[in-house]
Parts: sequence; structure tokens; C-alpha cells
Amino acid sequence: MSIIDEALAANAALASSYDPALAAPPAPKVAIVTCADPRLTGVVRLMGLQDADVDLIRNVGTVVDDDALRSLLVSTRVLGSKEIMIINHNECGLTVFSGDELAERLRTETGSAPITPVTFYTFTDAEENTRLQMQRVRSHPWIADDVPVRGFIFDVHTGRLTEVSAA
Ligand SMILES: [Zn+2]
Repeated sequence: MSIIDEALAANAALASSYDPALAAPPAPKVAIVTCADPRLTGVVRLMGLQDADVDLIRNVGTVVDDDALRSLLVSTRVLGSKEIMIINHNECGLTVFSGDELAERLRTETGSAPITPVTFYTFTDAEENTRLQMQRVRSHPWIADDVPVRGFIFDVHTGRLTEVSAA
């Protein structure tokens, strides 16, 4: 059985203990952009936050791209999030190869050279990269000035967050 089939079978049983109160309309207090890396999955609880208080926006590499900005705008302008966190982490998979290396590998493996993705957003310095993502959010004209945008590095060894200065 595939993992997905196993998950569906488990859902059929586990959903019987689902709390219908969780269907209430979302009212997040904070929007968080973080990596899709499974080691970041517990970060909300490691900050003592409730799932309902957080709009969790995840992609590989903690990238503030067009789609992440779209989510941040809905979260802050429609749903009511008051603050934005960018949570990058050490030992991110996007620091171990360059975008050009990956594209070349995929071209070789598949024999195809598609026009997209244009970039994989790889990086070498997590702090510098976090600063860049913060700037991308801060500079968007539709992100309200009174919404704080703060960046952090999550240490996958200790579970601790360290703030990254904006400049
Ligand atoms: Zn990562």
C-alpha cells in the first residue's frame, strides 16, 4: 500500500475523533513563512502558539516569492494577521547545491530543458537570505506599515530561534 493509501485508511478511523469546533472561520494572529523541511513542522508548538493563531505558509527554502506574498496579503488584509515572521533554518537543503547545478542535473536526467522554474532560490548564508526575504515582504506596497516583519533562524539541533536583524 502506498503512503497515501495508508494515510487515507488512517483518516477514516482518526476522523471520528475530529473536533467540529475546528471548522470555525480562521482568525490567525500571525503569518509565518517557513521551510517545507519536515524538521520545521513542530515550530508552531515550539513557540507555544496554537495552530488556530497561525497562518503557516511553507515552501522549500523559506522563499518570499509571488505566491508567498499572495498568502501574506490575504492573511494580513483579509484574515487579520497582525504580525509576520520569516523562519529560515540552519542546514537547509537549498544550501547544499546551486540552482544551476540542480537544473543541469535535471536536464541531464530527463533530457528536457523547460523554461520554468526560472530559479530554485538556493542560498549559502541563512541570515543574509532571511534578511532578503524580510525586505521582499517589507517593500511590498500592500503590506501595511504597522505589520511588523521579523526574521529568525531555527536551529534544527536545539529547537531555538535566533532573531535576524533587518539591516
Ligand atoms: Zn529548508
